[in-house]
Amino acid sequence: MVRISIPTLPPAPLLPPSALTLLSPTLAASHLAAFLDKGKGKTVILTGAGVSVDSGIRAYRGEKGTYSNPNYKPILYHELVEDSPRGELFRRRYWARSFLGYPPVRDALPNPTHIYIAALQHLGLAPNLITQNVDNLHPKALSLLSSHGAPASTKSRILELHGTLAKVHCLKHRHEQTRDSYQAEISRLNPIWDHEAKEAERTGRRPRTNPDGDVELHGVDYNSFSVPLCRICKAENKEETTIVKPNVVFFGETIPPSVRDESLDLITNSSSLLIVGTSLATYSAFRLVKLASEQGKPVLMISTGPSRADGLKGLEKMDRVAGPILGKYLDEVVKTNSGPDIDAVKKYLHTGVMKRPPEIEGPRAEG
Ligand SMILES: [Zn+2]
Repeated sequence: MVRISIPTLPPAPLLPPSALTLLSPTLAASHLAAFLDKGKGKTVILTGAGVSVDSGIRAYRGEKGTYSNPNYKPILYHELVEDSPRGELFRRRYWARSFLGYPPVRDALPNPTHIYIAALQHLGLAPNLITQNVDNLHPKALSLLSSHGAPASTKSRILELHGTLAKVHCLKHRHEQTRDSYQAEISRLNPIWDHEAKEAERTGRRPRTNPDGDVELHGVDYNSFSVPLCRICKAENKEETTIVKPNVVFFGETIPPSVRDESLDLITNSSSLLIVGTSLATYSAFRLVKLASEQGKPVLMISTGPSRADGLKGLEKMDRVAGPILGKYLDEVVKTNSGPDIDAVKKYLHTGVMKRPPEIEGPRAEG
């Protein structure tokens, strides 16, 4: 682990959490302005599932920190890769559900919060972003900005801590391909499932998708589903059969060391940390906040509900939805500045979609 020594910062005036939470939107925005100003363009942003809810992607946890879907069982890594008939059945079930569950994630659009964060990155106010989300919406938001005429920026960096659903790779050689090409291969191998998927698109009755792209299906025989193996392995050596998995980190799987090291470096090289829309339930994300706190960096969290970092030294928390505060702050930024980047951001700021997922259902009996 890379550790550099950080000069001691003067203590930031800490407001009690309730006072920060109850600030008017304007005062909350100026608190954010002061925080980013102090960060001098070296603030790193950390986001989680809460940011994507307005794009129709369901968060794992609701406002009270409980799982929003009581029947949800996360996919476990060891089950997905097990080399046995049981593992084979598990992969059929996983890929069948994921095949149907992916299109809504693929088609989801950035909401205002993604747009504001991309603007903060592009304007150099907080160029580096670490996200726990695997839905590809932060990269989409940043590329939308260049389609609004923003001069290309090489300074913005997005680190997807838990990977992305937009790519898959094989376990043996890490041959990578796009998720779209793998989905097309599944369609070719499974005409009945393909028909099912097209019907769901046509009627709009898409199954309920979990944040990792998995769906809930009941009373389905997965034995009829065939899972394509790595086609690059097959092309190189006809005997070789290799399991393909999405480029996401599953429960029970460790983050690739290069990604972990880069996330720690981003924190170490930052001046402060802005946390948006996450309860920090995963250790890989919480560890980053802990590191920032240990390094004496100011940490501002704008997120609803309890979090694992509550009470951590140096952490200020606004227990509220971040989008409107970021929006109010950026409205001021574009009003008081000028230039080609500001012009592009001005046109782009109000392009976020709002498409909340259907109301969370209550517990329901299985079967
Ligand atoms: Zn391969």
